[in-house]
Amino acid sequence: MDCLFCKIASGAIPVEHLYEDERVLAFPDINPQAPTHVLVIPKQHISSHAEAAAADTDLLGHLLWAVGEVARAKKLDGGYRLVINTGPDGGQTVDHLHIHLLGGRAMHWPPG
Ligand code: AMP
Ligand code: ZN
Repeated sequence: MDCLFCKIASGAIPVEHLYEDERVLAFPDINPQAPTHVLVIPKQHISSHAEAAAADTDLLGHLLWAVGEVARAKKLDGGYRLVINTGPDGGQTVDHLHIHLLGGRAMHWPPG
């Protein structure tokens, strides 16, 4: 499958590993939108949040926890924002589930 984030997960495309275990990987976003902008992905290919299945709930919980590990390591004590863009209306551009971790500045609401 020609999936950018599967290639990153497999190591075929090298990135800085900010957190990694057997199920998930965190790496810097190539086009950061905040002082801290990290992507956290499951190594298993799930094309979007909308495609996550009941069988994936343990993985999804682990993914959410792993984002917290990165936030703690980055000392985002003032808080942070998590974003999961989903589908065309959600602004998703890479069809492999990922959580954006944004921090290091105050976020705006509502988002664009
Ligand atoms: P989304 O628009 O939610 O699908 O997010 C995709 C994100 O992937 C964007 O923020 C891009 O900047 C980021 N991105 C694309 N290619 C790479 C790459 N090679 N390494 C790291 N981040 C990337
Ligand atoms: Zn993939």
